[in-house]
Amino acid sequence: MTIVGVLALQGDFPEHRAAFAKVVGPNGVQLIRTARELAKVDALVLPGGESTAISELLDKGGLRVALTERIGRGLPVLGTCAGLIVLAQRLETSSGGRDPVSLGALDVTVRRNDYGRQRESFEAPVRVEGLRGPKFPGVFIRAPRILEVGRAVQPFAWRDEEVVGVRAGAIWGLTFHPELSGDSRVAEAFLAENVPGA
Ligand code: GLN
Repeated sequence: MTIVGVLALQGDFPEHRAAFAKVVGPNGVQLIRTARELAKVDALVLPGGESTAISELLDKGGLRVALTERIGRGLPVLGTCAGLIVLAQRLETSSGGRDPVSLGALDVTVRRNDYGRQRESFEAPVRVEGLRGPKFPGVFIRAPRILEVGRAVQPFAWRDEEVVGVRAGAIWGLTFHPELSGDSRVAEAFLAENVPGA
């Protein structure tokens, strides 16, 4: 049976768990806090939240090394919002606060909080390549902006002309929160394309 792990150190991991449970069933989703738990998953979600806190907790819990190794061996990873920031190779300095230490798994440059503060959070339709039906309801909460995309990285989601989703093989990064939209199509596509037998 396929197990989708949701990194549960900080952020909106309960919402991701609920969203993936709709796709793979409640027993197919596990919250991940240790390297031992990580070893059992077929795919991993890095949730939205506070990227600096997530990054610090990766170090505290001794997960960073194990996670970097598994990603290096091809673990499919879906990072949303703060999760994308933690994956991004380059962070352009954001205003205020410390920046997280990246896992360096996705060759993009992002800037945190680039649409402004909490009250500038918004919803907007997103065109996601490969999804059938209407545009995806994009929920953007203190979202980062993707400023540069490396050669091996493909944009696959856009809000108007702006890139809001990228992928490099099985590493997917989104600036929005599909888990808060009630729409399972992104979760389904992530598993269908990256996790054989899911
Ligand atoms: N602003 C947060 C950060 O920089 C990300 C926000 C989110 O995940 N919704 O980490």
